[in-house]
Amino acid sequence: MPTAADPTGRYAEFHARSLREPEAFWAEQAALIDWQEPWSQVLDASKPPFARWFVGGRTNLCHNAVDRHAAAHPERRALIWVSTEVDQEREWNFAELQQEVEAAAAMLKRRGVGRGDRVLIYCPMVPEAAFAMLACARIGAIHSVVFGGFASHSLAGRIEDCSPKLIVSCDAGSRAGKLQPYQPLLEEALRLSQHKVEQVLWIDRGLVPLQPQAGRDFIYASEREAVRGQRVPCEWLESNEVSYTLYTSGTTGRPKGVQRDVGGYAVALAASIRHIFDGQPGETFFSTSDIGWVVGHSYIVYGPLIAGMATLMVEGTPVRPDPGIWWRLVQKYQVRVMFSAPTAVRVLRKADPSYLTQSDLSSLRALFLAGEPLDEPTARWIRDALNKPVVDNYWQTETGWPILTLARGVAPMHERLGSPGLPMYGYHALLVDPETGATLEGPNQKGVLALDYPLPPGCLQTVWGDDERFVKTYWSSIPGRQLYSTFDVATRDADGYTFILGRSDDVINVAGHRLGTREIEESIASVAEVAEVAVVGVADELKGQVAVAFVVPKQAMPEDALAAAVMQRVNEQLGAVARPARVLVVQALPKTRSGKLLRRAMQALCEGRELGDLSTLEDAATLQALAERLKPA
Ligand code: ATP
Ligand code: MG
Repeated sequence: MPTAADPTGRYAEFHARSLREPEAFWAEQAALIDWQEPWSQVLDASKPPFARWFVGGRTNLCHNAVDRHAAAHPERRALIWVSTEVDQEREWNFAELQQEVEAAAAMLKRRGVGRGDRVLIYCPMVPEAAFAMLACARIGAIHSVVFGGFASHSLAGRIEDCSPKLIVSCDAGSRAGKLQPYQPLLEEALRLSQHKVEQVLWIDRGLVPLQPQAGRDFIYASEREAVRGQRVPCEWLESNEVSYTLYTSGTTGRPKGVQRDVGGYAVALAASIRHIFDGQPGETFFSTSDIGWVVGHSYIVYGPLIAGMATLMVEGTPVRPDPGIWWRLVQKYQVRVMFSAPTAVRVLRKADPSYLTQSDLSSLRALFLAGEPLDEPTARWIRDALNKPVVDNYWQTETGWPILTLARGVAPMHERLGSPGLPMYGYHALLVDPETGATLEGPNQKGVLALDYPLPPGCLQTVWGDDERFVKTYWSSIPGRQLYSTFDVATRDADGYTFILGRSDDVINVAGHRLGTREIEESIASVAEVAEVAVVGVADELKGQVAVAFVVPKQAMPEDALAAAVMQRVNEQLGAVARPARVLVVQALPKTRSGKLLRRAMQALCEGRELGDLSTLEDAATLQALAERLKPA
């Protein structure tokens, strides 16, 4: 049936079939990758909520990402690496990439790493980190990439959780021109961790001196020499063996170690590049994320390469040396598909918009954004500034690829600003009442976004080492039903567009009215003077909860005037119940390292509670400043 989003109705049929005949549907998608041995069963759903895809099939992520393209198109560009931090730019074609990955695999094997062993990768955005990930995939070792910005405490927890046989690290990263040496952080983490790590492979960029420990430490370049010329074939893995573990961002508490398979993930990524991102072999994909996040795994390293695309990996920020940098790269490398986050767009929005139009962007087909709610004013601004489709996509570390977006590769789709779009094929997405578990069918009802069993290929198999936590955390929170909870609250309009209103713990209950923080934030963001805003619900004796808004202005201005404008706007758009009890003007908001607002910490601060686990906080000074602002005068 044609709808506003899907005027031909083709996508609706595609989606319906994926749920009606999941085995036939996914068997077709599985033809997008190479299999060394075919599967005996497409889906094993005998132990809900666990699901196994392509049972008995043998394949390899590295073969699909590298070797098969190196064989067919050795000269085709594969990896482009740009560092605006150390002013370097390099590229590898598929044949060269295979050589580097085989070398890294040989280094790992030489150190006794094999199938099923864990390798922790704690690196900045250097090409060797991508080589190491692919090398692990090649030999069947399980990588666990930890974002290079994490401090010792966070790193130690992850080392303990995945107990690696070897760690790959680097002398230093650089961010906004400031060097960050890694060795002191890693040494401290190793000291804090119960798990003893026997080997560390150091990438030495020559940025800061390393102090290698004899017997424990090895240097990448010398090991590279030692294995010169050695060939390492791909290990053919059963589809359900573990490819990697990766921790969630920790926005709401202790991060969960998401565990991913091999075959299902490869198929899901290949299908998503085709149906969602509409990327073709030989084109260039540019994701501005970091390899430490799921977007970096799926759409810097594995997805584009599996699809035979070149991937552009950048070490740097969107505004250095100036806010034109990303767009110059788009022009230079003829980027077709770009993927970024709302937080980066908000940074750009503070700069002169002419930077966005100084480059020739004719190669670019669309900009995809994910990670946080994309409010309408931000979406409109970047869409108009680039004059390109801007496609919001909603998903989680857990799912590995988008849950909600628009499948532009399947059919012509129309976006609606403020909504990530429709449930993707394979996902049976429902809105449910969190109190009763009832499915909400009608339009414009608020509920928790849940997914019915089984999750499609590519999604988490379990929580690493903790099946019970997997079942308890994700599949047991909706009364009376075994559904996967996203813990995000959403609503669906009459045309079927889903809107994410915020996390379920962020819903504010003002005198019995349930309000998503997102709705209030969106209203406030539409005030012209506002650059960024965060709204949290704060306990209130009279009303249960009230909204408190933290507002970052575009330019310095009197607090009273801005607060009045904000209150008036919310009053007009949402009514008095939603009007914040307090509006505080601040210079910056506390965010996780991945750019997500830490509402949990802001709320605790307002309520005078313990702040909880802050290991993923980007900049402690922002919280300090908020605390100062909250002190009674
Ligand atoms: P943790 O689960 O450890 O608290 P996290 O949920 O922030 O951390 P991620 O998996 O990185 O870790 O983030 C997924 C979450 O990000 C989603 O559940 C949702 O809340 C938010 N999100 C991602 N993309 C979007 C989007 N396009 N629109 C709205 N929210 C989004
Ligand atoms: Mg989460």
